[in-house]
Amino acid sequence: MRHFISALTLSFILAGCAETGPQPHQDTRTTPSQAAADVEYVSPEVKTLIETSLSGTHAYDITQSLTTEVGPRLAGSEAEARARDWAVEAFKQVGLENVRIEPFTISGWKRGVETAEIITPYPQAMYITALGGSVATPDTGIEADIAYFPTFDDLVEAPLDGLEGKIVFISGLMKKAPDGAGYGPANRKRQSGASEAAKRGAAAVVIRSVGTDSRRFPHTGQMRYDETVPKIPIGALSAPDADQLERILEAGESVRLKLTLTPRFAGDLPSGNVIGEIIGSEAPEEIVLIAGHLDSWDLGTGAIDDGAGIGISLGAAQVILEAGLRPRRTIRVVAFGAEEVGLLGGFAYAEKHKDNLHNHMLASESDFGAGPIYEVKSGVAGEGEDVVRDIARALAPLGVTMGTARSAGGPDIIPMHAAGVPAMRLQQDGTDYFDLHHTPDDTFDKIDADDIAQNVAGFAVMAWMASETESDFRADLKTQ
Ligand code: ZN
Ligand code: ZN
Repeated sequence: MRHFISALTLSFILAGCAETGPQPHQDTRTTPSQAAADVEYVSPEVKTLIETSLSGTHAYDITQSLTTEVGPRLAGSEAEARARDWAVEAFKQVGLENVRIEPFTISGWKRGVETAEIITPYPQAMYITALGGSVATPDTGIEADIAYFPTFDDLVEAPLDGLEGKIVFISGLMKKAPDGAGYGPANRKRQSGASEAAKRGAAAVVIRSVGTDSRRFPHTGQMRYDETVPKIPIGALSAPDADQLERILEAGESVRLKLTLTPRFAGDLPSGNVIGEIIGSEAPEEIVLIAGHLDSWDLGTGAIDDGAGIGISLGAAQVILEAGLRPRRTIRVVAFGAEEVGLLGGFAYAEKHKDNLHNHMLASESDFGAGPIYEVKSGVAGEGEDVVRDIARALAPLGVTMGTARSAGGPDIIPMHAAGVPAMRLQQDGTDYFDLHHTPDDTFDKIDADDIAQNVAGFAVMAWMASETESDFRADLKTQ
């Protein structure tokens, strides 16, 4: 692995660190803190963490290393195994302790051939990709007439027959929003489109990609089958190809499509979570958990989803060490495996640590790209609300405000949050996130060095303050 921390940084860490951290990556960029000389910090430690983060390239370098040296890393694949080895090395290089892999097994799926072509009225090829978990068509493909549903709701409201042997096409636009609010509604067709169509007799489904771009890259992503109806293949067309189909259909033509998707199920495969810690000086058994997910879809190199989250969470721990700060509680960094295929790493973690979840003070995952953080969302109760508001105030120099929306802390945090672990989220501006999400275009060049450094500052301050507060806001779990 290429070394993404400089020899200077490393020597400081090995030497036990100076009082104020070294800033080995200083450059001429104007950071928010430099721009506002009169900015007020809530404490000297917060000032150091923010300045160290903003003047460095911690997450940028980590994300570059992961996406370049491992590349695409589908859950359960040999590449995901290499990513775990990469993470063990990276965690150790940053200076984390207790670095380990917690393995678990998943049911594997691999992409095959994926083609779609209009046979009549205007023969031409389309850009398509299979959705994760989809069954295959015959190797020779399926050729059938299209039944068109402008939205997923149109399909749900359709009679429970009449689509026998057809290829269902579900369109529907996704709205752009900073917090990704359009994703949930748009994603229904990806999650449930195959089974809703199968209930009505369809042979296969194509959807307009769940995305906000107009590029010719289809967006993949996990789908689900209702076990009570036949499983039929489902793929996503790029937005321009969906537009093309709509133009033909809306002109009153009937369209005959040939669809070939040959993914296969690969049996039980290994996955795992990679864990490392800065051990707390006074309450080492109490854990503040920050995370990203290590796996990606196979089409791109997983830079915004979620190499950035690995870079941000590990980069934040690196900044705390570089600043020479020793947290009171343990700061645990987790690189979750197999998030894309159903939050499997998050579930495995909650299960393995179920007897110790009461010792988790706070958990938060970065999994929404590398855009700047603009808002804090709370997933805590009681006196934890004060702590979350304090953290939001500390992040004001970064342009962050306290929001009113609630959060479960990020996808892999959902299972432990459901079991009572307090959570919070640093909401990033993801206005353009779904232009790239789950496409071949999710690559490292899309990461902005200043924006990702702002995220590192946010995570470093959040983890540090949660480790230092005298407040004990461990929900109901502490009584167990
Ligand atoms: Zn993700
Ligand atoms: Zn994803």
